[in-house]
Amino acid sequence: MIKRIEHLGIAVDSIETALPVFEALLGSKVYKEEIVESEGVRTAFFKVGESKIELLEATNEDSAIAKFLSKNKGGFHHIAFEVDNIDDELKRLEYEGFQLIHTTPKSGADNKRIAFLHPKSTKGMLVELCQEKIS
Ligand code: ZN
Repeated sequence: MIKRIEHLGIAVDSIETALPVFEALLGSKVYKEEIVESEGVRTAFFKVGESKIELLEATNEDSAIAKFLSKNKGGFHHIAFEVDNIDDELKRLEYEGFQLIHTTPKSGADNKRIAFLHPKSTKGMLVELCQEKIS
């Protein structure tokens, strides 16, 4: 089951220069910064009520964010839905005909198991599913 919008991912050319902009915009401080080597991204998170904003900067040229920024100026990159059971939800969405980028969840930022759906099957929107890791 999809429970809520967990976060919106925003691609930026530089987290260093984006941080003061988002701190001023949201009136709050960044609460977490984390590098996800497997994804080639540096992330920074802001709380916005029940949801979050995730800033994403590429850490190498092969990063999906580097490719995105070569075609776009930056800005909205993906929407992340929190689910109660990511394995079940991936099966459900595959059955519904959605194209999965990850058929099995992987480790993401902010203590989450994540998987992405291909924008081809979601009217152009990159969708992330995430579930809190049980520690
Ligand atoms: Zn995300």
